[in-house]
Amino acid sequence: MLNRAPECASCGKEISGNDVVYVKLRYPKMKGFAEVKSYLRNEGEMLCETCQKSR
Ligand SMILES: [Zn+2]
Repeated sequence: MLNRAPECASCGKEISGNDVVYVKLRYPKMKGFAEVKSYLRNEGEMLCETCQKSR
């Protein structure tokens, strides 16, 4: 399963449940949310709300 918490690509803050995040990525050709989550970790650039607003 997913053990490592995702981090903001800009400030490194850990993203936890219920946080608002922004992800920039190519839309994956996948079925199933579990695959999408691992795709996000590998391909997506995740930003916390604070960093997204400051861009
Ligand atoms: Zn951040």
